[in-house]
Amino acid sequence: MSEYVDVVEIFGCDVFNDSVMQARLPKKIYKELKKTIEEGKELSLETADVIAHEMKEWAIEKGATHYSHWFQPLTGVTAEKHDAFISAPMDNGKVLMSFSGKELIKGEPDASSFPSGGLRATFEARGYTTWDCTSPAFVRHDAAGGTLCIPTAFCSYTGEALDQKTPLLRSMEAVNREALRLLRLFGNTTSKKVTPSVGAEQEYFLIDREKWLQRKDLIYTGRTLFGAMPPKGQEMDDHYFGTIRQRVSAYMKEVNEECWRLGVTAKTQHNEVAPAQHELAPIFAPVNIAADQNQMMMRILKKVATRHGMRCILHEKPFAGLNGSGKHNNWSLTTDDGINLLDPGKNPHENIQFLLILTCILKAVDEHADLLRESAADVGNDQRLGGQEAPPAVISVFLGEQLEDVLEQLISTGTATRSIEGSKLETGVKTLPDFMKDATDRNRTSPFAFTGNKFEFRMVGSKDSISACNVVLNTIAAEVFREVSDRLEKAEDFDLEVHNIIKEFATKHQRIVFNGNGYAPEWEEEARRRGLPNLPSMVDAIPALTTEKSVKLFESFGVFTRAELESRAEIQYEIYAKAINIEAKTMIDIATKQIIPAVIRYTTVLADSINTVKAVGEIDVSVQMDLLKKTSKLLKQVNSAMSKLSKLVDQIPQQEEGRKRARFCRDKVVPAMEALRTPVDELEMLVDKEMWPMPSYGDLIFEV
Ligand code: ADP
Ligand code: MG
Repeated sequence: MSEYVDVVEIFGCDVFNDSVMQARLPKKIYKELKKTIEEGKELSLETADVIAHEMKEWAIEKGATHYSHWFQPLTGVTAEKHDAFISAPMDNGKVLMSFSGKELIKGEPDASSFPSGGLRATFEARGYTTWDCTSPAFVRHDAAGGTLCIPTAFCSYTGEALDQKTPLLRSMEAVNREALRLLRLFGNTTSKKVTPSVGAEQEYFLIDREKWLQRKDLIYTGRTLFGAMPPKGQEMDDHYFGTIRQRVSAYMKEVNEECWRLGVTAKTQHNEVAPAQHELAPIFAPVNIAADQNQMMMRILKKVATRHGMRCILHEKPFAGLNGSGKHNNWSLTTDDGINLLDPGKNPHENIQFLLILTCILKAVDEHADLLRESAADVGNDQRLGGQEAPPAVISVFLGEQLEDVLEQLISTGTATRSIEGSKLETGVKTLPDFMKDATDRNRTSPFAFTGNKFEFRMVGSKDSISACNVVLNTIAAEVFREVSDRLEKAEDFDLEVHNIIKEFATKHQRIVFNGNGYAPEWEEEARRRGLPNLPSMVDAIPALTTEKSVKLFESFGVFTRAELESRAEIQYEIYAKAINIEAKTMIDIATKQIIPAVIRYTTVLADSINTVKAVGEIDVSVQMDLLKKTSKLLKQVNSAMSKLSKLVDQIPQQEEGRKRARFCRDKVVPAMEALRTPVDELEMLVDKEMWPMPSYGDLIFEV
């Protein structure tokens, strides 16, 4: 890549975006497509044919040879199948490049190899991918050449969602409908659409590829399963926002360029808290686009790292004892004419609407805290949440002093009644202090923090899709908006009812507000007293998906059916059990083939030394003896911990259902893994470094 980059020139150059469509599509077709994108109107096959043809021509100019329906099944990664544009050879032996509207709109990958969580037992194996025309197609360049990627949703033959995107799109419709209803009640007649906007900050680690290759745990599981802390960790706080090393800078430069070409607005980059940890944040976008772009960004982060002789690690907790990685999901609701519903605004009237929406969200989060927690559940995240480095496993909302004060006044002084006696909204509002954006300090320990004009959900794991949490956020917000609109539509006195609702919600759901230190152990106690759910493990969180409360919520908005929720819970249990199974087997493999042989070699060296030195004469060999004894004792512990773990791993398949397997893994296998790790890490501190079979933490994080 060249030294000088014209960002404006390259930005979005590989994207079939609005300006490309406008330039290349016949006017009538362009208009019809815009209608579909903006208003959800159905696209005719004839129109799709024209779009497909133009898309293909454009993609070929960009170097594409293949097209691919690109989707996000429930495996946690994206999926794609590539088809060349070529058609059957003609009589003269040549081929034409073709791409029809049907091929653009619909794909039919065999669904049977993707997780369906039992849905397939009752339904057909066939699956469909359908074009999500609201997220632009793009040409991706890599070793495979150019591929036209078409963002799609993935459903079963009978329409059950088998992916992350389908429910996300459904939830966007739900919150759009209900938020618009509410806005209309407040006299807004101009906005046509409310879209959840999201900016997802992405954390990651970079380590040297040669060293990575020597760590089977990183290769198989994405995290280290053994490893003693180096003498220096992150305690000096010298990495956060520190000068970025040249090797990493060169990497970031290429990451940015690749992102920009694909229209991903890579914006902010910096070093994170742990050594070798970094962050990249884009500018916020409509949530389905943000979700797609986050997947693209993760792929770019990984691909470019390989080119630079490094590995990008997206696991939530690659190194015990160092900060893990997350993804901050900044969420707001924005109208098509640019109004952010979470903006406190400048005048009292806006304040009142804002306060209503704010209290709606408090209620939504309080009532569905378990679901929100579940949406961030991931095997790797279990090691991060509640570890004094990431939000605790208890959901609470940070509002900042000023807003909390406003709420407290509302609750205690009952301004709502007074406002009615005066001239409309004004008297009521005068009693509210004016509040400004950024008037309060930040709180980094809160899982769900109001940050001026958006909420920042900080629980999501670094390698997870952002779809799940946004499905929950959109739907729970829609539910409360619906309830409020129902009440307001019936209310005789609109203003009074608004005030009553604000006061009622603020009072009832005040317990979810917490402005203190979320890392403090006292908070867990306090949260328990308040009756807030504390779900430390993914396995504890999964049942939230299928409670009657949750089924009712999702079914009433058509976001998930009961069957879909049950299938998702089953998939989650399976994912958990499988991941732990792989981790346990990897530990056994490393211990058997690398650690134990290395320690035996070391003890042999010690024993030889003792004999050799003794042979020379009456010389003190107590140091060698001492080391030999310690090492041998630990070796024995390793061996017995390993046989215990092996036995448990053998028992995993005997647990008949997913939930049982997951629980067995959490309760039995995970503690046995920890029991094996302890003596191995102690040995690492004793054994000659030259003989230790893999790079240490220090080698991995300080020598990038
Ligand atoms: P932090 O201090 O947490 O790093 P930033 O101010 O850098 O926060 O913003 C983080 C993310 O929030 C960015 O992706 C940004 O685009 C996004 N963001 C800013 N405003 C909004 C908004 N109104 N809605 C959604 N996301 C937003
Ligand atoms: Mg942040």
